[in-house]
Amino acid sequence: MRTVVIGGGICGLAVAHRLARAGTEVTLLEASGQLGGLGTFFPWRDRWIERFYHCVMPTDENLLPLLDELGLRDDVRWERTSMGMIVDGRHYPFNSALDLLRFTALGVVDRVRFGAVSVLLRRLGKGKDLDNLRTEDWLRGLYGDRVWQNLFAPLFGSKFGAAFGDVPALYLWQRLGRERNVAVRGYPRGGYKTIIDALRASIESHGGVVRTSAPVRVLGRNHVELAGGETIVADRIVSTLPLPALRQAADAEMTPLLPQVNLRYQGVVNALFVLRQPLSGHYWTPVLRSGTEFDGVVEMTPLTGPVDGRHLAYVMRYTDRESPLFAEDESVIAARWTEQLRSLHPGADVEEVHVFRAPFVEPVYPVGYLAQQPEVEVAGTPLLLATTAHVYPSVTSWNSSVGLANRVSEIIVRTAASMSPDGEPVP
Ligand SMILES: Cc1cc2nc3c(=O)[nH]c(=O)nc-3n(C[C@H](O)[C@H](O)[C@H](O)COP(=O)(O)OP(=O)(O)OC[C@H]3O[C@@H](n4cnc5c(N)ncnc54)[C@H](O)[C@@H]3O)c2cc1C
Repeated sequence: MRTVVIGGGICGLAVAHRLARAGTEVTLLEASGQLGGLGTFFPWRDRWIERFYHCVMPTDENLLPLLDELGLRDDVRWERTSMGMIVDGRHYPFNSALDLLRFTALGVVDRVRFGAVSVLLRRLGKGKDLDNLRTEDWLRGLYGDRVWQNLFAPLFGSKFGAAFGDVPALYLWQRLGRERNVAVRGYPRGGYKTIIDALRASIESHGGVVRTSAPVRVLGRNHVELAGGETIVADRIVSTLPLPALRQAADAEMTPLLPQVNLRYQGVVNALFVLRQPLSGHYWTPVLRSGTEFDGVVEMTPLTGPVDGRHLAYVMRYTDRESPLFAEDESVIAARWTEQLRSLHPGADVEEVHVFRAPFVEPVYPVGYLAQQPEVEVAGTPLLLATTAHVYPSVTSWNSSVGLANRVSEIIVRTAASMSPDGEPVP
């Protein structure tokens, strides 16, 4: 039984790795010249650096066992990291009760309420139908109008745009479970490329095939067609592509069979600054109402230490792939965002700026999404879907992609076991 996996990001790689190890014939097809998807990297001096900031969390219950299997778990360097906050141009640490008491971006009463509710928030959400509750309704009710307006709307709205209030409260609740202000975070020695390389080596050593620069142009019922016309027939096809991209590739027979759910996706524009000096020392600093287009700063130094004597800081703006910013020239964004970074950190000693963008990061989930979430198996076809639309309510991350890959590959291995070698069901 032959499986074709479309997409060589972490999800596709993890599916192919599982299938190859289980002795199932598998071919992975990646459109670009590089494996890793959103976790890809670019060469810098004598090393590789991620295009988009990435870190591992100690709660990554699917990713960490995979790293174990690859012999890489001990290569993760763990550090305790902190959070800052920039509001109206003012810098605040945002990690302890004392920090909150000094957080003058909110009035005294709101600070106390913020602290008390935040401590209880995870518990307050338990047993509630948060998937059917708008985030805005939930948070306004608990924290009050001012905290919603001054803090949450700009803070989390940066991820989903104006629609943030409409995203199910369940998404936020899950996110709070994964991330905390003061958090131990991990980063693999040698970067994420080490994980990608190890997955490729594992797939190939178990007889699987990995092809880069192999974009799937047409998805048929039991075949895919590559740019250039090559056709590959398969008993199972796993697509890790965002649903809009998959729809574009589907042929006339497959189009009506694909999930009809219509999701808007957020993309991202992100700039990596190579600096001669660190900025704040916080890993994560949201930036609110401070005259910048980017919504946050992620400094890697607290996690990785200086890299070749330099400090890496990412700034990011989640945005629609149709937005004017997404279409703008990289050098123009780099110049403007350098000025904006300097307005926050006047001494910022910028050596280089690299701008990267990705059109599909994750869907903007609608309220009640659990009832509309497409199935992994597309009924009546050999197609399985393993996309960011399927990881909800988990947060989009390498961890949730690996969890989904585990689910999908188990289905394939189970069906393969019930088939004879010529593809017929075993009675
Ligand atoms: C700015 C940013 C920061 C993030 N930070 C973190 C973090 O700290 N920790 C964390 O765990 N996660 C983080 N993530 C999320 C994480 O990167 C994603 O959830 C994960 O990489 C998704 O993997 P995937 O394989 O599902 O999709 P993708 O990585 O998008 O992979 C899809 C692959 O399919 C390929 N493809 C597309 N079209 C075709 C085609 N027609 N034929 C063949 N191949 C095709 C693409 O080239 C791509 O390689 C972050 C993401 C972003 C953007």
